[in-house]
Formats: sequence, structure tokens, C-alpha cells
Amino acid sequence: MDKRSGLSTPEAEARLRRDGPNELPAAAQSGAALLLWEVLREPMFLLLVACGAIYLALGDRNEALMLLGFVLVVIVMTFVQKRRSQAALEALRDLSSPRALVMRDGKPVRVPGKTLVAGDLVLLAEGDRVPADIELLEASYLTVDESLLTGESQPVLKQARAANDTEAATADQRCYSGSLVTQGTAQGCVVATGPRSALGRIGASLGSIAMDETPIQRETGRIVQRLALAGASIALVLALGWALSRGDWLTGLLAGLTLAMAILPEELPVVLTIFLGLGAWRLAREQVLTRRIPAVELLGATTVLCVDKTGTLTRNQMEVRRLWVDGASFELADQAVDAMAHAFHPVLEYAVLSSHRRAFDPMEAAIGAAGQRWLQGSEHLHADWTLVSDYPLSRELLAMSRVWRSPDQRELLVAAKGAPEAIVDLCHLPASQRQHIAEQVAALAADGLRVLGVARAVFAAKALPPIQHDFDFEFVGLVALEDPVRADVPAAIAECRAAGIRVAMITGDHPATALAIARQAGLQVQGGPLSGTELDTLDDAALAERLRDTQVFCRVRPEQKLRLVQAFRARGDVVAMTGDGVNDAPALKAAHIGVAMGGRGTDVAREAADLVLLNDDFGSLVTTIRYGRRVFANLRKAITFVLAAHLPIIGLALAPLLMGWPLILMPAHILFLQLVIDPACSIVFEAEALEPGAMHQPPRPPQARLFDAALVQLGLAQGVGLLATVLAGYLLGVQQGGSDDAGRTVAFAVLVLGNLGLIQANRSWAARGAAPRAVNAAFRWIVLGTGVLLALALGVGQVAALFKFSAASAALLALIAALAVASWAWCTATVRLLRQRR
Ligand code: ADP
Ligand code: MG
Repeated sequence: MDKRSGLSTPEAEARLRRDGPNELPAAAQSGAALLLWEVLREPMFLLLVACGAIYLALGDRNEALMLLGFVLVVIVMTFVQKRRSQAALEALRDLSSPRALVMRDGKPVRVPGKTLVAGDLVLLAEGDRVPADIELLEASYLTVDESLLTGESQPVLKQARAANDTEAATADQRCYSGSLVTQGTAQGCVVATGPRSALGRIGASLGSIAMDETPIQRETGRIVQRLALAGASIALVLALGWALSRGDWLTGLLAGLTLAMAILPEELPVVLTIFLGLGAWRLAREQVLTRRIPAVELLGATTVLCVDKTGTLTRNQMEVRRLWVDGASFELADQAVDAMAHAFHPVLEYAVLSSHRRAFDPMEAAIGAAGQRWLQGSEHLHADWTLVSDYPLSRELLAMSRVWRSPDQRELLVAAKGAPEAIVDLCHLPASQRQHIAEQVAALAADGLRVLGVARAVFAAKALPPIQHDFDFEFVGLVALEDPVRADVPAAIAECRAAGIRVAMITGDHPATALAIARQAGLQVQGGPLSGTELDTLDDAALAERLRDTQVFCRVRPEQKLRLVQAFRARGDVVAMTGDGVNDAPALKAAHIGVAMGGRGTDVAREAADLVLLNDDFGSLVTTIRYGRRVFANLRKAITFVLAAHLPIIGLALAPLLMGWPLILMPAHILFLQLVIDPACSIVFEAEALEPGAMHQPPRPPQARLFDAALVQLGLAQGVGLLATVLAGYLLGVQQGGSDDAGRTVAFAVLVLGNLGLIQANRSWAARGAAPRAVNAAFRWIVLGTGVLLALALGVGQVAALFKFSAASAALLALIAALAVASWAWCTATVRLLRQRR
């Protein structure tokens, strides 16, 4: 079979079954055993076991058995939670694994890299990660970076094998899995995949999703440490105080351990991980892939969005609209083919000749399509010409040329197209004519069209010159292409503006085109455009001054994006930057949040980015910002809740010691609460929708802390209120029911219901009535489950005995209800107070 036509789909599937997927065995599979080990190391688990041992020592078998039951519940819950975030991460990893362009059934298709098999024909282009070991059949200017394998970061030049070569391929005729194409294009045949590739043999692996620490995580870590220390000391004081004052060491130890169980701030890191992890998972459903999980939360603070014009703001579906030759122009629309005068044929003819035949670039594809339609049947389509050489686009010259030989001619024909300035330059035109063309370019560009100049040359000498300037070019005309703004972009940009986020457009296109598109998209353009050339002349201070009101950056080279990112950062902005090319990688890394395009983007850009937009759409970037704000707001609510919920527990543990009462809370009660608190903060608050007005407020200041004074005040106020009602419940319960157990019954029931009220009060901090509240299914389930459990504990004799409750009389129930309502009202009032103070 011919290596050059690739495989058929059935053949590829058969080989995949035979050889296995093209992936490396994962480094450290965290299996079920490892997870279990993690659960067993949980402090909560250890405390439970210790308490169970004490109960056994006290001879209380029933209590010990109940604790054992709770141990199982805790293990299962931890296990499920960990499994869930792990599964979410693995799904993300799959999505972010590299894809490869291969020929299947004679057509180029993009497939996940792990489905490649030996014999596949792979097409490589600048920016690709080589997906498997490949023998090169064709290569043009191909250089690759093999540093992953060799440690040598200098790119190496590769060559194709000659068609009749029967020797084994040499190293410079092969590309190895994991290396990076830094320049050029190539086609090659896969010779080794997965563990059989050079990379697989050395056992290296490509890390894909990082979970490095953000400031917020460090802050949480510090606070957890402090709280744990404080909690441990309070517990110790309680245990000692109890033991010394009453001479009962075992009960003292039990009280201390119970308190430790209750105030261990272990929820906080769990909350953070779950919020960010689930946030990433939610975003994946919106076609946004998170490569660095903490970026989710930082997005909410974004103040500047730097986005590409082509493909991000526009659809990247181009169409040739107008041709211009010698002062006359022609509008391409739905007319008959002979509506176009012959005078316009050459400009299209040479535009087609200067493009790739199998074009990936949408602009070249549009030119090819226009050629097929308008030149059909004419002598201007040259399917039988052969390509002799080509001169690619470069950063110095925005023009490309291709050199052709026709079957009957001895001379070579050169076709060039590119930015009009560059083409005019290549043609060495007199000033008057340059002026004339420039005016026409400005007119076309003002309609938002992308304008290209087209030129031709005849070349008779033997050796081709090294640069395009050495040809004797003759100007042919202009081609103007339309690339409409995406339909949802103006609305998304208006949303950004309302949310206090600046949107800056960066493009390699002409200033007038850039301005026109910016206007259509709804960007602010009073500052005028800033061109790449001008950018180079500005020093840092002058640039900072220009950045104050400039939103449109044109004729910018990818390398200049880095300077823009740095300049924005220097102003104190939080910058999100989009990019797709190889040269965008430094800017993507330098931005706070680098965003790569999944469809168009190269592997290099994807690897440098924090987020990947799978559908390349600006709208999903705004969605992501909305999520970022939501995650931050919900985290604050969850933390307030955790803070407030712990206060009454500490109070209930300490009060008996101080007041000489019997122990109120026992391990069973704490566990009951833990079953409410843990799922409540991680599930209910995570699922809470964005507050109605949140996208009408400026971004939070970058230095804003998660735990600030307002949050701590609110949490303390709510917690103290809750503690007061619970203590009142104990005293009134004792009075009403005439026993300590009656006091415990009321105190505990009020505490549980108060927790529900606390969740409800903190679910939304926005003014009521601003918008209908979204339903939160998780909260409903928790209310229902808690209600049932509480009813069991109050109503069923055996369960009540385990909790050391007295029989619940109507008077006690009424008392419970009244106090629960009071605590809920207090929590709601504190939220309102906080809002008014702001
Ligand atoms: P953008 O930022 O809009 O994606 P590019 O950096 O891709 O712009 O292109 C910048 C300019 O380079 C274009 O306006 C055009 O003049 C020129 N150019 C880009 N691609 C080609 C091409 N394939 N052939 C000729 N000129 C091109
Ligand atoms: Mg482009």
C-alpha cells in the first residue's frame, strides 16, 4: 500500500485494537487503595476512632457502634468527593491532550493524538507537538525543538527521505514524539506510537494540567494552620479544665476530642478544591478548557481583555468581496460569472497563484474558492503548473511569493500577495501611484474589509534570489476580503463594559480595517489605533500614557504582544490575553490568564495557556469571566458560613465547663452537624448562581483578599447570634422540660435548624427582589434530608436515646420553632446590614 495516501478508517481501527492507544502509561495512577489511604489519614477519621475507643473504655457499646456507623459515612463521603474531583480532572486531561492532523480515507481529519497508529500519514505544521515517531516523506523548512528528548533547546533542521530511498531513515529524517515544530510544514508516516516511541522508551511524560497554588490557596493554607492550632489549644484547655475541675479524665478527653472534631477547619481546603475543580468542570461544559485550575478564580478579577481580531472577534470565515485594478473596482456578489470584466481576471489569477493549493488559512481558502467560481473555464486557472519555490510571510515583510513553472514556458512566473504597503514596496512604485493605491486601500478598509495587494514578476535567470525584493515585481491590483464580526460579539463586549472590563483588540491587520471592525464590535475607539511600528518608538512611560485610552492595536507582530501585556501589568491591570500562534506563547505565559484558541491554536499556544477556548469564541471568554466572579463570590459565602457555624459549637462545648453544666454536645451531635455543614458549603454554595448585579460592578481589586474584614465581621455576627439562640434554647429547654436532656434537645434542634437558616441567609447577599432567585436543588435536598434526620432523632425512641434527647413535647417543639425563626431572622438581618454599610 502507498505510504502517501494514509490509512482507511477500518484499517486504523484494527491497528489501534492491535497496538493499543498512542499514550504513555500514566506516571502515578492514584488508585482506589491510595484514595482509601488518604481517607484513613483524615483527622476526622482519627478523632472518630479515638472517641469510639473512649466509649468502649467507658463500657458504652451502643455509642461506640453508632460512631462506627458514622465512620463509614465519613469514609464514603470523602471517597465520593475525592473520586468526583479526580474524575473531573481526568476528563479535562483527556480534552487537553494533543490532537493530530492525519489522512484517513484520503481526507485530512483531526483526531485525538492517542488514536494514532503505525502507518498513519500525519501532517505537521508550525506549532504542532509531534504526536508520534514519524518518518518524513515531505518537508519544507521543517525545524523542530527536541529538547524534551535531548535537552538541547536549539531547533534542528529535518529533511524528507527521497521517494526511492531504501536505506533505514536517519535521525534527521525522523521526528520524535513530544518534540515541537518551530517552523515549516511536513508530512510523514507514523513508525512508532505510545510506549514504543522514543519518548515512551525513556519513560518521560508530558504534564498537562497543573494545580499550582494561587495567592488564595496560600492564604487559605495559612488560615487553616492558625485555626487548627487555636482549635487544638482550646480543645486541650477544655479537656484539662474538665479533668482537673471534675476529676473525670475520660469525659474530659471526650469533650476535648468532640470539640476538636467540631472546630477542625478542614472544610476550608476541601471547599477551595471542590469549588475550583467543579468550576473547571462547569466551564468545560461551556467549551472552555481549564489547564491551570486556579485561573478560574483569578478570571473574576480581570480588568483588561486583550483579544485577537481575526477568528476571536470575527468569524474567520472569509470571502472575497471586492477587486480593484487600475482605478476600477468590481463587487463580487451573486451575479453571473461573465458579469466580471476581463480586466479583473489577472488580480484573482495571481492571488490564487500566490496561495497554497490545499489551503489551511481561511483567507487563502477564500481566494481559492473565488478563483474556482469566477475564473472557471478561463485560461487563468493553472492546474498543470508546478511549484518551483516559495517565499513565506516573514516578520520583516508581510508578503509571500510563490514561483511557478508552466509546461510550455522556460521562464518562471512569480506571484506575490500581502499587506498593500509591503506589495507596493516590492513593486518600487513612484510616489504618486503609491498615494493613489493607499487612498483606495483606506477606502476599502474603512468598510471593515481586509485588503491584500497582488503583484507578479517574470524570472528568467537560473538561480532564485534569496529574498523577494530581488524580483522585478509589477503591481496587479487589490483584493478585499470580508470577515464578519461574530453575531454575539457586540453583546458580549457591552457586557464587559458594564462589568468594568476593558476590551483591547490586537491584530496584524491594517489600521483602517482594525478601526472599522472595532466599531462594529462596539469597542471604544476614541483613542485611535496604535500601530506596531509606533509601538516600537514609544518608551515605557509614553506607552503607559497611550494605554490609558487606546483599545485598538494594529499591524502588531506577535512578539509585540508581550510588551503590551507587560505594559498593562505595570499599570496594575489584571490581564487576560488570547493567542494562537507559536510566537504568542511568551505573551500567553506573561499574562495573568493566557487564553489559547482550541480550534485554530497551535499546540504551543495551548500548552502556554491557562485556558483553552474550544470553540474559539469571544463569547465564551465572557462566560468564563462570569464564572470566575461567581466562584469568588460563592467562596466568600461558603467561608462566612463555615466561620459562623463553628462559633455556636465552640460555645456549646465551653459553656458547660464555665457554667458547671453537664456536657451538652457529644460526638454523635457533632457528626450530625458535620453531615450538614460539609455538604452544605461544598455543594449548596458552589451551585449558587451569580448574583443578579454582579456583572454590573467593576472587577474586584487585584489585592482584594478572600478573608477580609467585612467577611469576618459578618461571620462573627451571625455566629454569635446563633450561639445566643442556642444557649437560650438550652436554658429555656431545661426550664420547660425539667431535665438537662430537654435542654440538650432544644439546643441541638435549634442549632441544626439555625444552620439551615444560616445557609439560606448567605445564599444570596444581593438585595431581595432584584431578580427571581434561581432554584438550588442541592439546598432543597439538604433541607429535606436534615428535616427527616431531625424528625427521627426527636421522634423515634431508640434514636433519641443515642442522642441523649428527652421526649419532645409540644411545648418544646414550639420553643424550637420560635428560636429557629429568630436565629434565621438575625442572620438575614446581618446580611442586609452588611449590604447597607457597603
Ligand atoms: P490578524 O491579527 O488579523 O490575524 P495576521 O497577523 O494573520 O492578522 O496578518 C497580518 C497581515 O499579514 C494581514 O493583514 C495581511 O496583510 C498579511 N497576511 C496574513 N496572511 C497572509 C497570507 N497568507 N498571504 C499574504 N498576506 C498575508
Ligand atoms: Mg491571522
